[in-house]
Amino acid sequence: MTVSTLTVVPEALASGTAPYAEPDPIRLTLLARSSDTTLQALARAARDDFPDWLQHVRPAASCKRPIRLAATMNTVEAATGRLLSTVDTRDMPDGVLYKPCGNRRESMCPSCSARYKGDAYQIVRSLLVGGNGVPETVATHPAVFVTFTAPSFGEVHTRVVRKHTCAKRKGCDCRPEPCHARRDQPLCPHGRRLACFARHDPGDKSLGTPLCLDCYQHNAQVVWNLASGELWRRTTIAIHRYLRRVARRLGVPGNRIRLCYGKAAKYQARGVIHFHAVIRLDGVDPDDKTAIIAPPPGIGIGDRIDAVEHAARVTAFTTDPHPTRPGGWPIAWGEQLDVRPITVAASGQVTDLMAAAYVAKYATKSTEVTGHVSGRLNDETVNLYADPDGTHTERLIEACWILGGPRDWRALRRRAHMLGFAGHFLTKSRSHPVTFQLQRNKRVVFRRAETTGPTEDTTVTEAPTLLVVNFLQFVGSGWHTTADAILANTSAALARDHQTLARQQIADLTG
Ligand SMILES: [Zn+2]
Ligand SMILES: [Zn+2]
Ligand SMILES: [Zn+2]
Ligand SMILES: [Zn+2]
Repeated sequence: MTVSTLTVVPEALASGTAPYAEPDPIRLTLLARSSDTTLQALARAARDDFPDWLQHVRPAASCKRPIRLAATMNTVEAATGRLLSTVDTRDMPDGVLYKPCGNRRESMCPSCSARYKGDAYQIVRSLLVGGNGVPETVATHPAVFVTFTAPSFGEVHTRVVRKHTCAKRKGCDCRPEPCHARRDQPLCPHGRRLACFARHDPGDKSLGTPLCLDCYQHNAQVVWNLASGELWRRTTIAIHRYLRRVARRLGVPGNRIRLCYGKAAKYQARGVIHFHAVIRLDGVDPDDKTAIIAPPPGIGIGDRIDAVEHAARVTAFTTDPHPTRPGGWPIAWGEQLDVRPITVAASGQVTDLMAAAYVAKYATKSTEVTGHVSGRLNDETVNLYADPDGTHTERLIEACWILGGPRDWRALRRRAHMLGFAGHFLTKSRSHPVTFQLQRNKRVVFRRAETTGPTEDTTVTEAPTLLVVNFLQFVGSGWHTTADAILANTSAALARDHQTLARQQIADLTG
C-alpha cells in the first residue's frame, strides 16, 4: 500500500532536493503533521526507522485504538538486587510502547474483540473438556446448557419461525408467523391497535420495538437489567440447594457436590439482557477442596434439568424501594427457559465445543443489537441519547438517567449506555481456574519466546531468578496519525494473510 502511494506524489518530497535523496527530518516532521493521510503515510514510510517501527508496533498493530505507554523497564537479579539492564521507551520508535486497547466490543475494535472471543472460548472450552490446567476428566462430568430470559415488559414486534427449513440460522429466509395476529385487534389506552400482521424479515428495524411505546414498561426493564446479576447469583444458589437435596436422598452428604459454570450475557433486540450458561456438576474432595473430581454417581440428567427449571421458577425478589416506586420492582425470570444436556459426541445434541463457541461469540456483543453504541454518558452527552418521547432505546436510556438520580440508584446512570446492565459479559464461577489473565499471560510468554529466538543464551530458562520492574506511564490512546493506523493495521492484515496462506499450503502439502 505504501509503495503505490509513494509513486503518486513524488513532488511533495522532491521539491528543492534531488529525488529519492535522504529525506530531510524537519520536512518529514512537517509532512507527518499534514492533514492529508497520504502525506502522513509518506512521512512515516520514508523514515529510516520505518521497519523498526513496524516491528515495534506489531503487538498492537491490528488494534484500532492502542494505548501508548512510556516506560522504564529494569531487569534485576533477584538474589542480589543487582541491576542487569535498563530499557527505556525513549530509545524506542515514537518513544512509547504500544499496547492493544483490549476492548471486548466488536464495534469498538474488531481485532481486540476477536482476541477476547478466543480467550472466552478457551475459558468455556476448558470448563467442558479440560485443558489449561483443568483435568480432561471434566468432560465426563454432567453438564447442561441453559438460556435464561427476562419476562415481558410489553409486547414487541417479533419474528417467530415455527419450523426452520434454512441450512444455517444466519441469513435465515424461512417464512415467519405473522407478528401479532389478532382477530379482536384491541386498542391500548393510547388508542393504538395492539396487533401487527406483518411477517418481519430478519433485519427488520422494527423487531424488538414495542407495539405501543407509551404502554411499554421502560422503567421496569432497565431495573431488571440492573438486577439481573443478583437474580443469576440467587438462581445458582437455588440450583445448588436442589441438587444437594437430591444428593442427600441418595445418601451422599450435600457438601460433596459443587457447581462450576461459565455464562455470557447478551442483549435481545428489545434491549433486555439474557444469559447463556454452561453449568457443570463436580464432586468435592473433603481433603482437598480445590481438586476437581467427578460428582457422586446417581444424580441423573433429569435431576439436573429439574434443578435448573425449579430454580428459575422459584427465584424471585423485590428490589429496594425507589422514590417513584416505594414498593420496589419485582425481579424474576421470564417464561422462556431452555435447558439442554451437553454431550461430548456430536449427535444432533448440543455438543461441548458448540456450547463453548456459542457462549464465547455472545461475550463480544453489546448493545449494538438495539442500534445503540456509545461510551459512558454524562450530564452533557446524555441529551444526545435520551428522550422521554423518543425511540425505544432513547426511552430506555432516559429511564436509566431519571431513575438513577437518587444516590442509591446511581448505578443506573453509570450504566445508562448499557441500558442498565452492570455485569460482565462473560463470568465464571470461582471454582474454575482458567481466567482472561491466564490467557493474556500465556500470550506474553509466547511473544517473549518468539522475539528472544532460539539462539539467545539460556538465561531465559532461569527467568524466575530475574525480576522485571516496570515503571509505566499512560501517555495517550490511539495512533498518532490516521496514516499510522492504516500502516499498522495493513501490516497486521498482511501478516494474517501470510499466516493463512502458509497454513493453507501446509494443509495442502500434508493433506
Ligand atoms: Zn484494540
Ligand atoms: Zn410487527
Ligand atoms: Zn430459518
Ligand atoms: Zn399504549
